[in-house]
Amino acid sequence: MSKKVRIDKAKCAVVGCVNQHVVLHRPPASEPRRNVWIHFIYRGNVPTNVPKTLFVCANHFEEQCFSNLRQFREGFAERLHLLEGSIPSVYPNENVVESNEVGGSYYMELEGLKRSLDFLKAQGITLDSIVTDRHPQIQKYLREINITHYYDVWHIEKGLTKKMIKIGKNKDCTELNKWIRSLKNHIYWTAASSTTPKERIAKWTSVINHVQMYTPMKMMHFLTTPAFCRLEGLWTGKRILKDVEKMSPHLQTSSVESFHSVILRFAPKSASFPFIGMLCRLYLAAMHFNENTRRPQATKSTGELMYRVFYPKYRRGEGIARPIKEKATFQYVDDILELVFEEVFHDPASYVQEMQMIPIPPPLSTEHSRPDKDTVVAGFVSRFNPAPV
Ligand SMILES: [Zn+2]
Repeated sequence: MSKKVRIDKAKCAVVGCVNQHVVLHRPPASEPRRNVWIHFIYRGNVPTNVPKTLFVCANHFEEQCFSNLRQFREGFAERLHLLEGSIPSVYPNENVVESNEVGGSYYMELEGLKRSLDFLKAQGITLDSIVTDRHPQIQKYLREINITHYYDVWHIEKGLTKKMIKIGKNKDCTELNKWIRSLKNHIYWTAASSTTPKERIAKWTSVINHVQMYTPMKMMHFLTTPAFCRLEGLWTGKRILKDVEKMSPHLQTSSVESFHSVILRFAPKSASFPFIGMLCRLYLAAMHFNENTRRPQATKSTGELMYRVFYPKYRRGEGIARPIKEKATFQYVDDILELVFEEVFHDPASYVQEMQMIPIPPPLSTEHSRPDKDTVVAGFVSRFNPAPV
């Protein structure tokens, strides 16, 4: 029979499980059940030498595998008892990535992508290509799994524009500022009008000739200035050309970015939420986004399309027009209320059960041991208010 252990140093061996349950279980000693456990632990890729001692945390078992789950949850049992013959089957919390699972928020992008791709694969969806920013880890990962990777044009344009503005700030390069707007347009035009990497490169580099050709006679000296030299360097660098080859011809990531801003409305970064709270907020954000993302542009009673004009500081008095969309709708709120009052309140058992099935990792802060309050207070005294000697 598999034994339960509660050793602080022991870790759950399941590949990808970091937020493990405090209760660990040992695989059975005898075959063939041991083999099933080992396969589960390594997600099918069993290494040649499997360590003798392995543990699997309680997060990987269905609730019915435990004989005393209720007592454990209510605090009457210290250990969870696994029923004879149970096998692990749950890879927990697949879609919300917590930053400490992967070693910091920088690494979350890759982990989130991996889980999303696994999820899509499990749904039977095969991917042909994917559009993201130029995050290096993601470039490497997609190369390894052979998915065509396109780069979002806006990210490339933003990076280049920043560099051009920086160059334009130099005393001898101010001429460049006149060109920045057209150069920006050229970036989008190159992406939208080309179909092959070769074509993209050709159109991209043509801009240098274009600047040469369309520089008015009296401004010809521009072509011999440091500004033009630096522009040429920026535009034809090895790295940027590599990125240009992969500029996305069709889809961009802007709708994902706007989904992120909806998420920030529902789950502001300045506040922290418990795991379930965060999950619910993400679901709400997704429902709001799905219902409202394709809102048409608002019209006046005369049928004329409506716009709002902005005068952002960086445009120095120049305005930008943006279409005004029709008012957002909240049908999803009515749907949820109806579900809660008409169904959940009458027979909550199945909903409660499903909620309890969601494995909840411990809060981010619990992974470090805490010093006691006196020690922390003493530290404060010594740093800014030297204690009287
Ligand atoms: Zn685990």
